Amino acid sequence: MTERVQIVGAGLAGSEAAHALAVRGVPVRLIEMRPRKMTPAHATDRFAELVCSNSLGGEARTNAKGLLQAELRAAGSLIMEAADAARLPAGGALAVDREVFSAYVTAALECNPLVEVVREEVAALPEARPLLLATGPLTSGALAEDLRARLGEPFLSFYDAAAPVVLGESIDLEVCYRAGRYGQDADYINCPMTEEEYRRFHRAIAEARRHTPHDWEQLEFFEGCMPIEELARRGFQTPLFGPLKPVGLLDPRTGAAPFAVVQLRQEDRAGRMWSLVGFQTGLKWGDQKTIVRLIPGLEHAEIVRYGVMHRNTYLNAPRLLNERLELEPLPGVFVAGVLAGVEGYLESAATGWLAAVQAAALARGRTPPGPPPPESMLGGLARFLARANPNDFQPMNANWGLVPAVRGRMPKRERRAQMFERGLEAFSNWLREQDVSRV
Ligand SMILES: Cc1cc2nc3c(=O)[nH]c(=O)nc-3n(C[C@H](O)[C@H](O)[C@H](O)COP(=O)(O)OP(=O)(O)OC[C@H]3O[C@@H](n4cnc5c(N)ncnc54)[C@H](O)[C@@H]3O)c2cc1C
Repeated sequence: MTERVQIVGAGLAGSEAAHALAVRGVPVRLIEMRPRKMTPAHATDRFAELVCSNSLGGEARTNAKGLLQAELRAAGSLIMEAADAARLPAGGALAVDREVFSAYVTAALECNPLVEVVREEVAALPEARPLLLATGPLTSGALAEDLRARLGEPFLSFYDAAAPVVLGESIDLEVCYRAGRYGQDADYINCPMTEEEYRRFHRAIAEARRHTPHDWEQLEFFEGCMPIEELARRGFQTPLFGPLKPVGLLDPRTGAAPFAVVQLRQEDRAGRMWSLVGFQTGLKWGDQKTIVRLIPGLEHAEIVRYGVMHRNTYLNAPRLLNERLELEPLPGVFVAGVLAGVEGYLESAATGWLAAVQAAALARGRTPPGPPPPESMLGGLARFLARANPNDFQPMNANWGLVPAVRGRMPKRERRAQMFERGLEAFSNWLREQDVSRV
């Protein structure tokens, strides 16, 4: 006997999940609140509506998003099928006609006899199991409140205040040094600045362009999470008493305290990704890159996630989710998409697929297959969600810091190409060995 799976939210994650369940013969109840209740960003009643850009990212076989696309194709993704049907010319990126794209996804699900579509707002967590939550960054207020009440205040965030994250291997450790304040744990990497370097950096921030949020995205900031540009605007000294405070961070090579210090904190267990402490920012991405590269030791930094500050509902995944994307405190409840702590259309669809595969196994009374191998982009993403640093957790997109590096000296392009082929092969083998199409 196969149980029916309920999915809440028919965005990128929920639509992909519904399709993945139906192709495995599992009946689905897909509950979407639009058009009865709209979000501030969606404009239609269609499933998988792309609310902003119409790009699903670069397709090159050296691109991290490209690898996730290839894995989704290998998995039989509806989102990739729709993207191919709606494709527009866009150089090396996978861009789509958004109308054609969401119409394709909507028709595919509405015509599927195994998918029952219900148009209503879910205001409280349904009792049915398996359940898959995919209500996205604009989860309705009633459901968000219910989740907060069940899971606890610190486990659900209502906005991002993310700092840029850089790839560990691109940090110059000849310039930066490990130290903790006053000689305590040396968990941080420190980038020291002279007065002249700090002046240049401060001027660049003051002149940088800010991203303009929609009215409904406007946030009120607490003193504890001011954007770095706001701190810099308050005065030359202000960041020096805040995140760039050099006190207690002596440079072991000189024995002296630098004029200012930017600290980097480890984001993942393997130490492949490092975030700039206290550097939450809403600056335009091009300007963020310029500013980050003005920091000594980060001249060649590869930014794997840019800072953002906007309204966003997401769970503290490492405190709540396991690698099957199941809520540890609520067995049988799977979470996917932005609510699960990923960022991006493609990442949302991919986690929707992964959560659906686990839920399908449960619905049939079988053991869920778990995440794909760590070399695959989806495997890296699922592991990151379950194991990232839970302090100040921020959503993550597909990037090369999520998977182990290929060792040996070679040009960056060659290394990426090898990581791409290795990841796709590992993912395809896993699909076959676990017989994932029939879980
Ligand atoms: C304004 C904005 C712009 C963005 N721009 C981009 C971009 O350019 N590129 C990019 O890659 N990512 C972007 N994102 C981030 C994110 O990748 C997308 O929002 C993506 O659609 C997330 O997929 P999802 O399935 O998690 O959520 P969504 O696609 O938003 O789907 C969630 C669905 O759940 C429904 N829902 C919510 N609450 C309930 C409820 N209580 N009951 C029933 N249904 C409910 C919603 O109506 C919605 O259809 C943006 C996000 C926002 C908010």
